[in-house]
Amino acid sequence: MHFSSEPLITWTEKGLYCEAGGFYIDPHRAVDVAVVTHAHSDHARKGSKLYITEKSGVELLKTRLGKNISVTAFSYRESFTLGDVTVSFHSAGHILGSSQVRVQKGSEVWVASGDYKRDRDPSCEPFEVVTCDAFITEATFGTPKFVWKKDQPHGEMIYEWWKENAEKGINSIVFGYSLGKAQRILAELAPFPVDHIIVHPTIVALTQCYRDEGRQLAKTMTLQERIKQKSKLQGELILAPPSIFNEEWKEFLGPYKTAFASGWMQSGGWGRGSYDKGFVMSDHADWNDLNRTIMETQAKKVFVQHRNGALVRHLRGQGIDAHPVEILKPLIDRIPSGTNLTLI
Ligand SMILES: [Zn+2]
Ligand SMILES: [Zn+2]
Repeated sequence: MHFSSEPLITWTEKGLYCEAGGFYIDPHRAVDVAVVTHAHSDHARKGSKLYITEKSGVELLKTRLGKNISVTAFSYRESFTLGDVTVSFHSAGHILGSSQVRVQKGSEVWVASGDYKRDRDPSCEPFEVVTCDAFITEATFGTPKFVWKKDQPHGEMIYEWWKENAEKGINSIVFGYSLGKAQRILAELAPFPVDHIIVHPTIVALTQCYRDEGRQLAKTMTLQERIKQKSKLQGELILAPPSIFNEEWKEFLGPYKTAFASGWMQSGGWGRGSYDKGFVMSDHADWNDLNRTIMETQAKKVFVQHRNGALVRHLRGQGIDAHPVEILKPLIDRIPSGTNLTLI
């Protein structure tokens, strides 16, 4: 593939880089200016001099990276200038404060998606379609086997499973990521008559960030508070990361059932079979939503991150100029012009 000049966003060993704006997007290493799409640890890393992120995600970022990091924040759709480019954040619908990054130079518009999903999620803003010339998309679930039913009543499904167990005196443990999944479950359960849900310590501070941003979540009690009561847990719903079983509180746990909430449940991934129940509840777009989103951006060029082979092939079959993101190496690192590039 040939660009007449340096692509607006390139792929470097530190991650996505916009030279015209002097910033990286979700850099893998410490840099001067890191534009961060969201606070998950594979996107937000320690050590950068300045972080720029969407306003509602600032406290999550500080909780993850340290309270004294230097952060500049902008609201969704608010334009700001970095170097020679105009930048704005647009909701990615992934977790609280998650953004796609829109970068414009002259009339050329690029969008880097970060992680995104189209499914309904009461814990964050819905995904916004942003039209662009070039779209850099994630593809965590970028194969056709990852397709799931939309708009499942997750709150009701989890609530009913929990109540069914509770009637027998059994505890219900739902495993999921401590940032994003746990709060989404709490938001899904907010409309139900819940006295309290027990949350693991890793979830507590992150959940408070959501409440501080006005998100309606079901009432919680920390595991420590519950253990202080010294009685055995009975009929409780517990949200926790899988590491929980290495910890000493297990002696207070009576009979229990487990569930895992993840998009990976769809394909039998992540140890299906070792859980009593699986809730297909993904933080990422499934195959259909990846394709739908790419079409809706109207991008003429598409660059795919992560699991890119099947999606790149499929898009090319649809006549879209699609490539793995690695093709966006800076000109200096690229093969001399005139060489024919064969792309997989
Ligand atoms: Zn993420
Ligand atoms: Zn990610």
